[in-house]
Amino acid sequence: MNTQQAHIIQLLTFLYGATFSIFLLINKNADLKRKIFPYLLALFGVLMFGLVWSDPKTDTSAIYSAIGVGLVIALNYRAINFCTSCGKTVFSRNVIEPQSYCGGCGNKMTVEKGESDQT
Ligand SMILES: [Zn+2]
Repeated sequence: MNTQQAHIIQLLTFLYGATFSIFLLINKNADLKRKIFPYLLALFGVLMFGLVWSDPKTDTSAIYSAIGVGLVIALNYRAINFCTSCGKTVFSRNVIEPQSYCGGCGNKMTVEKGESDQT
């Protein structure tokens, strides 16, 4: 991988990350976001992996890159949820115990993304 290719991946990751964040902040359809969020996040993971791996300055092996990116994606997945009431994207600052109230309307966050988090 040469420097020019690395720059293209950096640009793509940046553009995708920006679009992804703006979409989450602007779109108010919690159902839609809940459905496509895992795929969007997975694609972001692939790009980030490419970014870390292609950087000519680091000689990080593919395995360490994958572990690092996987961790970041898993934490993001846990920290981000969508309010059923107002559709706002809720970012939790506590990844151990995800946010239980919406910061926008104060609604209790009852619907989780996965099926494992039923309370
Ligand atoms: Zn809300």
